Amino acid sequence: MQVPFTSIYKLRKVADTSARSCFVCYKPSVSVLVSLPNASSKDPDFFYVCEAHLRDSNFCSIRYIEESPSQDSVGADKKSEVLSIQAEVANLEKRLRRLEDKQKAAASTLNAVVGYFTKSSVEEKKDDDSKESISKELKDPKLEIVDVKKELSFKVAELRALEKRFTRYQLDPAIYRARLMKFHERQRQKEHQKFLQNPASFPSVSSLPSPGEKADKGDDKSNDPGVSPGDNQTE
Ligand SMILES: [Zn+2]
Repeated sequence: MQVPFTSIYKLRKVADTSARSCFVCYKPSVSVLVSLPNASSKDPDFFYVCEAHLRDSNFCSIRYIEESPSQDSVGADKKSEVLSIQAEVANLEKRLRRLEDKQKAAASTLNAVVGYFTKSSVEEKKDDDSKESISKELKDPKLEIVDVKKELSFKVAELRALEKRFTRYQLDPAIYRARLMKFHERQRQKEHQKFLQNPASFPSVSSLPSPGEKADKGDDKSNDPGVSPGDNQTE
């Protein structure tokens, strides 16, 4: 059976003045989850929710999905793209930590060496040479750190942009069922309203049975699931 809307939603914001109560805790919220279009959805489902619930795995899980070019399908899955950038960021962070540790270790070695030569009676010239050669060794990790930091900030910006563009929220099955129940309830109310407003829903005076005539011709009985043949046998 086709569902009226998908369980995957996109986050939107409304103005502060349009805040409404959260679907979960009833506090006012300006964040709205709107279901992604699918083939059978004429209107998307939407509801207000605090953003804190979006981080709760009992409420939803995060998906990375592209905006669909058509209005009747969910867009392409971008999870692998986001995961690969996340892995690159993690690697750069690891590399940066290693370089910083190396630099710290080298700096303390330099201090120790400089301290030793200052105290020793070795010629000034040799002392200078040693300082210079050790400083030269340190220069590379320092430059590398600058490079890695630059690359890292670039990758983090790229990751944030991808997350902003592709992050969607897949409702937990229980929450999704609650949304579907709300939808069906609304549908029933709408149909009931339509029924009440439609004059054809009620018999006109001319089509009413004349006194003494049986209104029930008996052919509808079998369609009523609430009535079984045994129910008629009352005393
Ligand atoms: Zn809430």
